[in-house]
Amino acid sequence: MSNGRSNIRWAPRVPKHKIRRLYKSAAAGLLDEELLDDVGITLLLRCRDILTIRDATRGRVRCPRCARQGEETIILRRSTDGDPRDVVLRCRKCGWHVTWGEYFLSYRRKQLSSGGATGASCAPRWPDVGGGRGVGRVLLSPCCSITPV
Ligand SMILES: [Zn+2]
Repeated sequence: MSNGRSNIRWAPRVPKHKIRRLYKSAAAGLLDEELLDDVGITLLLRCRDILTIRDATRGRVRCPRCARQGEETIILRRSTDGDPRDVVLRCRKCGWHVTWGEYFLSYRRKQLSSGGATGASCAPRWPDVGGGRGVGRVLLSPCCSITPV
């Protein structure tokens, strides 16, 4: 079932140097709009992945293969009396499948836990924020500001 796991891809972290550069440009009054969008989109995708994993741990796994086709298919993870890692997640629509154990390994140690990521919950609304001037604008709104490192 290793093919199933290879279909799972998670957004990378935003490199710290980009955040630092973004805030320096804003502080200098020369906001780098291109960098703003780059960081904003990366953060948006990352937050969406955090929510995807949160839902999966609650039993609702989004099929990554269908998602890549622009469709949302939810696989309900069934409970078991045995080892939960052996539970097979199977998409009824496209046939993608993986064990819960393999799915878990795909996001382990990638800092995608929703614990403490309170800002992630508003990520789905980001494209509507900023009057259509780019998703990066959300970084300048009070609800999602990030701390330079
Ligand atoms: Zn599917």
